[in-house]
Amino acid sequence: MSTAYFDLQPELHCFLPRDKRNVTIALAFKGRQSLKHLIESLGVPHTEVGQVTVNGQARGLDSVPHNGDRIEVRPAAPGCPIEPRFLLDSHLGRLAAYLRMLGFDCLYNNDYHDDGIAGILAGDARILLTRDRRLLMRKVVQYGYCLRSLEPPEQLVEVVRRFDLADKIAPLHRCLRCNHPLEPVSKERVLDRLEPLTKIHFDEFHLCPACDQVYWKGSHVERMERLIESVVTRNSFRNQRAI
Ligand SMILES: [Zn+2]
Repeated sequence: MSTAYFDLQPELHCFLPRDKRNVTIALAFKGRQSLKHLIESLGVPHTEVGQVTVNGQARGLDSVPHNGDRIEVRPAAPGCPIEPRFLLDSHLGRLAAYLRMLGFDCLYNNDYHDDGIAGILAGDARILLTRDRRLLMRKVVQYGYCLRSLEPPEQLVEVVRRFDLADKIAPLHRCLRCNHPLEPVSKERVLDRLEPLTKIHFDEFHLCPACDQVYWKGSHVERMERLIESVVTRNSFRNQRAI
């Protein structure tokens, strides 16, 4: 039996039982086990882990610690490792709609089960968003994030912050219903589908080529723009505090 000593930075304490926060954790283990396996056995998915040092030296998650090693674990730094395309676990429909409002490609279906999600990720490099830390621990999950909040607006702020998305926001670019990119369409082409007041007050329209939904800059877009503004403002406020 070997023992390694883990110090996790405060941002990762939410994954630990209360009695293991703010202390060095002595973890006993048998044989050769990777840092990924040992850190996940503490409750922290590998997708949440940034730099790891063993006795002061940076190490990859596949390296194998030895008896008496002291291991420091930092959280993943803000930033987007791949193009920001997401896969959302079931029960995250409102977050999917918010992210689509901001123009981000989000696969979401409330029938997704764990094996279905793993299958999608095996063939399509996407960032998995979920509250299920066990799902994030699967090997097939290369990129992901464990949402802390239960509230969709807070979850949106978390995602924008973690993946540094504030500069990539593009409203009215993606269908809220089916995720397909929108295309501009002339008013004449959709005129017979518009309510009388919409015909009078709006001239710019977008159409989803996949599900035929029409979009225009109505009051829902104003609400969306306020939401975006609050996300961006809170994001920069947090960055300022971090400095
Ligand atoms: Zn659509």
